[in-house]
Amino acid sequence: MSIKDNITKIRDNVYEISGSYNKKMRATGRLYLDEESFENLEIGAMEQIANVACLPGVQKFAIGLPDIHFGYGFPIGGVAAFNERNGVVSPGGVGFDINCGVRLIRTNLTEEDIADKLDELVEKLFKNIPSGVGSKGKIRLDEDEINDVLDYGAKWAVENDYGWEEDLEYLEENGCIKEADSTKVSDKAKKRGIPQLGSLGSGNHFLEIQKVEDIYDSEVAEVFGLKEGMIVIMIHSGSRGCGHQVCSDYLRLMDKAYKNHNIDIPDRQLACAPLDTHEAQDYLKAMYAAANYAWANRQMMTHWIRETFEEVMGKSAKEMDMGIVYDVAHNIAKKEVHKLNGRDTTLIVHRKGATRAFGPGREEVPEKYREVGQPVLIPGTMGTASYVLHGTDVAMEETFGSTAHGAGRVLSRTQAKKDYKGEDIEKSLNEKGIKIKATSPNVIAEEAPEAYKDVDSVVRVSDETGIAKLVAKVSPLAVTKG
Ligand code: 5GP
Ligand code: MN
Ligand code: MN
Repeated sequence: MSIKDNITKIRDNVYEISGSYNKKMRATGRLYLDEESFENLEIGAMEQIANVACLPGVQKFAIGLPDIHFGYGFPIGGVAAFNERNGVVSPGGVGFDINCGVRLIRTNLTEEDIADKLDELVEKLFKNIPSGVGSKGKIRLDEDEINDVLDYGAKWAVENDYGWEEDLEYLEENGCIKEADSTKVSDKAKKRGIPQLGSLGSGNHFLEIQKVEDIYDSEVAEVFGLKEGMIVIMIHSGSRGCGHQVCSDYLRLMDKAYKNHNIDIPDRQLACAPLDTHEAQDYLKAMYAAANYAWANRQMMTHWIRETFEEVMGKSAKEMDMGIVYDVAHNIAKKEVHKLNGRDTTLIVHRKGATRAFGPGREEVPEKYREVGQPVLIPGTMGTASYVLHGTDVAMEETFGSTAHGAGRVLSRTQAKKDYKGEDIEKSLNEKGIKIKATSPNVIAEEAPEAYKDVDSVVRVSDETGIAKLVAKVSPLAVTKG
């Protein structure tokens, strides 16, 4: 029997996978999709949600968000929460690029202000922010310094003059998870991390100059400091080779751990360990260290972006009001308190290709935003819009305070390279008035806007179901890619 026979639509844009599909399911599977996306969704991704629902200590719902697609063990665009007492942690539920995330920087500039400087801005951003596969940062750390980066994240960066003290207020976790422990990160991961700190990476990672094109909620937009016509800069980057190595190292450990602790899993890629074991605790500490690396990385790039704008525009970054709107992690697992059956419960919430979308009142949200819920940053593609939303009470009730993280791939990189040519994509972007600078035409082809699902439908489902509400639409003027 196909999994689809066990799925029912429970309201508009919401589907549930019932436990009758697999008797081992301990939670209900939930999919936030419109009808078209539901019909087009790979069976494999639905099965992955059902598999995740079989893991020990999983609570309430195993969730597929509007950008869900097939991933390593867990789908991308997925959330699962595990009880601290009897649950597990699984590296596959976080992903290889630990704390891949998105940051949005505001300015008080308009399109007109930068129109004749745009070429220069793009050239200089491309030069000043190292990018590309295996790209190396501009600084060289010694061994003590990489440990500080891993233990203190963006705090380390700001203390070393990359950015402003006030920046930290506007980063998820203030850019530093205290439980991180660099001694749990292998030498190999540190060796990969040292030369790459302060670099964008390649492919899907990007730096974009955007314009606020539309405002859907003017009150919330004002709270976030966003205005129609405003120039903003979006960064999408993660923990580079360092996070990748941490994930690989601990997947190997977890592959033994789940057997040693007799955990019955439907797919080996869901390898995990009970939270009260040293394997789980060590992974969490190492994963947090990699998350801190990513925050330091985005912080350093923020600093160079400001310097570049200063150089080209001939004004200081403060004069241009280049503060951070927000910085979100979309590959991470964190300890959070959520209401379950009316009781506050401590959970380890895994978000893989999912953005936290905490609603009003949560103490984790910066004070300035607390009344309206946190900013949620959802990139689209280099040829389409991206969006800013805000977190909601509905998200707190239904999705452990989470929503989608992007448009979500529909074509693999290999397929995209077969179907599209970088030069053609560049030409069509230029025709739309979008400048692009990338290390190679192949990167452009892999990231062709057609390789992604329609981001408008992703954010519409989020908005209509209420798991995050629309605030603003931003559109690209220029993109740089590794
Ligand atoms: P991921 O972290 O899953 O690789 O990517 C997150 C999202 O970023 C993708 O789902 C896609 O929607 C978006 N994305 C990839 N490349 C670009 C780009 O060049 N510009 C923008 N605005 N979004 C992109
Ligand atoms: Mn990434
Ligand atoms: Mn990402």
